[in-house]
Amino acid sequence: MEYFKKHPKREIEHPEIVDWVVSEYKKTTGKVFRDPDRAIRKLHQEGRLIKVKKGVYLYDPEFENKRELEEFTPAQKEAIFKRDNYKCVMCGQGTAEGMEIHADHIKPKELGGKATIENGQTLCGAHNYQKKYYKQTETGKKMFIRLYELAKKNKDVKLQKFVEDVLVVYEGHQINSHIKWEK
Ligand SMILES: [Zn+2]
Repeated sequence: MEYFKKHPKREIEHPEIVDWVVSEYKKTTGKVFRDPDRAIRKLHQEGRLIKVKKGVYLYDPEFENKRELEEFTPAQKEAIFKRDNYKCVMCGQGTAEGMEIHADHIKPKELGGKATIENGQTLCGAHNYQKKYYKQTETGKKMFIRLYELAKKNKDVKLQKFVEDVLVVYEGHQINSHIKWEK
């Protein structure tokens, strides 16, 4: 991040930043920096760097500031909680039940979601945590449904039974119930 900040708005190729990071790290700690690629990707995932193309990243201070603007203010959080009656919109449990509540961006910041009360919802700690993995489980469920259809069509009984068991687990835990699976 230090290097990117020294060169704002410049497209920096992977080898350049990797060489710098590895040598600086060696100088200050005497150790080898493991997996610098992953560290750079992580900065991008956290929304601090813009990915220009494969292996090329850019730091734009305005972009970072804008992203910080998309955090809810304490007043907005309070308005969201109040509207949702201080209860998780997924399970209905809230402060009255001793649960910790969070203001969640319905459309995530990383995808351009804004800090507006309309884009906010109250979630309990457990559902806030679950939502982070939501897309991953959604993708998984869709994939298993496709696999189920395919196995059925090909009369692959063994595979069909396996996928059926997986989908039953989804249903048992009420994960991604909005994605319908027709047996
Ligand atoms: Zn909940």
